[in-house]
Amino acid sequence: MDGSHPQGIRRVMHCDLDCFFAAVEELDDPALRGRPVVVGGDPDRRGVVSTANYLARRFGIHSAMSAARARHLCPRAVFLHPRFERYKTLSRHVMLILDDYFLVREQVSVDEAYGELPPAGPGCRPAEEIGQALKRRVREETGLVISVGVARAKSLAKLASDYSKPDGLLVVKPSMERAFLRPLPVGALGGVGPHTRARLADLGITTVGELAAMCPRDLQAHFGKHGRWLWQLANGEDDRPVLADHGPPKSISKEETYERDIADVERASAHVRDLAERVAARAAAKDATGRVVTLKVKWADFRRMTRQQPLRAATHAAHPIAEVALALLSREVAPLLAPGHAIRLLGVGLSHLDMRAGALRPGAITQLPLFALEA
Ligand SMILES: [Mg+2]
Repeated sequence: MDGSHPQGIRRVMHCDLDCFFAAVEELDDPALRGRPVVVGGDPDRRGVVSTANYLARRFGIHSAMSAARARHLCPRAVFLHPRFERYKTLSRHVMLILDDYFLVREQVSVDEAYGELPPAGPGCRPAEEIGQALKRRVREETGLVISVGVARAKSLAKLASDYSKPDGLLVVKPSMERAFLRPLPVGALGGVGPHTRARLADLGITTVGELAAMCPRDLQAHFGKHGRWLWQLANGEDDRPVLADHGPPKSISKEETYERDIADVERASAHVRDLAERVAARAAAKDATGRVVTLKVKWADFRRMTRQQPLRAATHAAHPIAEVALALLSREVAPLLAPGHAIRLLGVGLSHLDMRAGALRPGAITQLPLFALEA
């Protein structure tokens, strides 16, 4: 029994990677660690800050600020251009990890997602434990730090993850909601931008508690329909569902870009075998079997090729998947390998899936006690 939530209560998790773009840059270039890092446009060309790491934030730098202003605040900060392809790859990896814990996932941006956890009930895994396992896996598999909030509603879960940053984990039990919300500044609420914040300040309202204590009809008079919504948010009333942004996956795949290009078949084979094992493990964890194996190659000159071959029988076992992927490698790829024509990226995929457990089907909430996948 989840000690933190009364039985049957909804548990929504909000996950948000900390300083995502800047964190990826630090990950890929350890020399950046311990220095203020700003990812965004050019300070000389009217660029804007996308993400600043915590060291840079200490100087007052924040997202959406002009890069020129950021440089003025901290001239010794390192300014970097964003590398969206790299961020997307890591984002995809993180989202797949989240899928192992959520009944339904709604990705709201490249570094942020809501998930519906199984409702609190006898034998269910406590939200803190799920959050810790998920955080640990994200860190181990990607090197990134993710903050996690859990509560009865989306807006509360997001406030909890925001509040707990950096490297946060906060579970807001229904009995704690009022105490948690009351002291927060109104600007913390999702629906309150700088304009609304200023107008609320004119009414003498600066905290969520003050907003919650207002008469909803007065707020509606001032702000129209939005006023009622703000009042509901301030009172933790939010029954918006977590909406699946994807159906069941069409394929399960793993790919890797290699630091040194691969020019020999033995090395390529070892990597293909490794990727096939990871695909098989992912499929087994989802209780999915597939019937077609795909091998994907990106060459050093960035040209790509993909080749497919069916399996003899649907499976999520590593051996037959690897066998077919290796057959594709030796037949289709090996003849093209040469020192001047090397491999930059390899990918192995499993498609034509049969999702037996239906774990990823939106709405398949009732049949999911096999959630206790240990991280
Ligand atoms: Mg973030």
